[in-house]
Amino acid sequence: MIQTTYTLYQVSQVIMHINFVSIHIAPSPRAIPLGVGMIAQSLRSQFPEEISTSLIDCYIPQDPAVQLAKVLAGNPFAVCISIFLWNSESAIRLIQDIKGSHPEVLIIAGGALPTALPDNFSSIREIDHILPGEAENSVIELFEGLLAGKPQPRIIPQGQPPRLEDVPSPYLGGLIKPAEYGGALWELSRGCPYKCSFCFESRGTTGIRRFPEDRLQKELKLFQAAGVSEIMVLDPTFNFDARIAKRNLQMMSTLAPDIHYTFEIRAEHITIELAQLFAGLNCTLQIGLQSIHPEVLNNLNRTCNTETFQKRIHLLHEQQVPYGFDLIFGLPGDSLRGFLESVDFTFSLAPNHVDIFPLAVLPGTALFDSAESLGLQFLPEGDYQVIKTPGFTPEDLSAAADIADFVDRFYNQGKAVSWFDLILEYLDLSPTGFFQIGASLADLASQPSSPLDFQYQVIHRILEHLNCTSRYPLIQDFITYFWHVNGVFAEALDASPTCGDLQFNPTLRTAAFMYNPFEIIQWIESGIHDFGIIQQYMHASRHMFAFACADSELTFLECTEKEFDFLHKLTAQCQPDFNEALDMPPRSRERFVTAGIAARSI
Ligand code: SF4
Repeated sequence: MIQTTYTLYQVSQVIMHINFVSIHIAPSPRAIPLGVGMIAQSLRSQFPEEISTSLIDCYIPQDPAVQLAKVLAGNPFAVCISIFLWNSESAIRLIQDIKGSHPEVLIIAGGALPTALPDNFSSIREIDHILPGEAENSVIELFEGLLAGKPQPRIIPQGQPPRLEDVPSPYLGGLIKPAEYGGALWELSRGCPYKCSFCFESRGTTGIRRFPEDRLQKELKLFQAAGVSEIMVLDPTFNFDARIAKRNLQMMSTLAPDIHYTFEIRAEHITIELAQLFAGLNCTLQIGLQSIHPEVLNNLNRTCNTETFQKRIHLLHEQQVPYGFDLIFGLPGDSLRGFLESVDFTFSLAPNHVDIFPLAVLPGTALFDSAESLGLQFLPEGDYQVIKTPGFTPEDLSAAADIADFVDRFYNQGKAVSWFDLILEYLDLSPTGFFQIGASLADLASQPSSPLDFQYQVIHRILEHLNCTSRYPLIQDFITYFWHVNGVFAEALDASPTCGDLQFNPTLRTAAFMYNPFEIIQWIESGIHDFGIIQQYMHASRHMFAFACADSELTFLECTEKEFDFLHKLTAQCQPDFNEALDMPPRSRERFVTAGIAARSI
């Protein structure tokens, strides 16, 4: 066994200080140091007198010198860093910078990548110890040894996974303060009963281990009291046991009904009762589909009966629960054509969003072990993406990647679920027919633009392609309407703009139209989906609307030119012009209040 000859903890130090470092992609309510927080809290609870811990958040784009200064704050005895596929480059550079400037600092690495490749990481000489797997127990063993002055192995054996009843919560222990992040990662369980070959969630473990319900209740109350707006629920098969899922959903709707939750669920375990409970929450569901082809799924140790899948998703659809799917291209046994069939099936289920990924052959997974026999060629480091398979040439993979990017920009970011079907019906295109034309507009792909502008450009170009641009203004109004209506429920200004005696609704949005969008919706709802016919019956003239969300309902006002200019400036700049506000006729101010887009300041 390799042992470090590192100079051990000096007894003259009163408290051993350890910085636990997470390197995130960017600040966000999901960029929360939960992984290192769990380890740090375990250590802190075990050695309250001997060890102090701090959590340090770094971000990939940050200047390395800034990162270095942050992780060395407080002159730590040791720095623990969690390393994943997506931050490994930054993490290794930071480790080398720490050791280069402060060789006396002990470096400890953990996380998914050192777990999958402990030997590779032990060849990085700047790393003193590696903590593979769930490290709440092994980190205690490591520091027990260090505090006792005993040399420790380079790779600390993982041993039995910890009993989750014994793992202290970094939220309840005060180490992670959710109010500082605005969101929470909420771990309900570990392990997975499935064994998908591309995933290492269930490798080496069997079944699901769950955190005790009283702990979950306390954490949820704390999130609610901290005012967090969103929670990512960490349980890869949340509804595997319907009884437990039901109890947890009831707890959420009782203790924290206003928070937005994101769940990962399995389609085959959706029941009508669960669909109704999800509908009672503000939530989004993520469902892994990956492919619809049995022979492809078989290679991944997965199954899917598309008929059952459709029926279960329909339960969510009926209850108006937002859901999205994951698909993977480059799978063994699949081809570009097979992938496109999966995409078409997916979009036939009206998902809120579809996340499409290239296959990554991750070290430590069963797929990695069988990659050669399956004929998978993949990058040997970095993101381990597949580069050639028996069914996908590199050109096929590139075409699939273009579609994935296009779907994300046009459909997901553009929130197109409300209208995409109708546009396809009018254009007589399949989803993949549309995406392939869209993705081929290479000059658009490189242009930075808002999702709505991107949609305008794509639709205009496709109408040009189909020789029917005369319908463009009506279709443009149709998608503009949904963009703003969806927007009032999704986004709000940081502060309510005030002007004169009025305090405006922070969800206020303005948009001008060539046709009255409410009339377009009426035509559509009457069953006429042909934009050409609708346009014949409509009169083109400028319509200006303000939209907002009041008491969870859409409210709107058709504005005069002067009202619209004022409200537009208000929302665009959030800097009210007081003279204009004072100029605003009392009638307009009254209309703003009556429509619910403003209230009188007290
Ligand atoms: S992909 Fe999901 S269901 Fe499959 S093993 Fe991983 S966590 Fe479990």
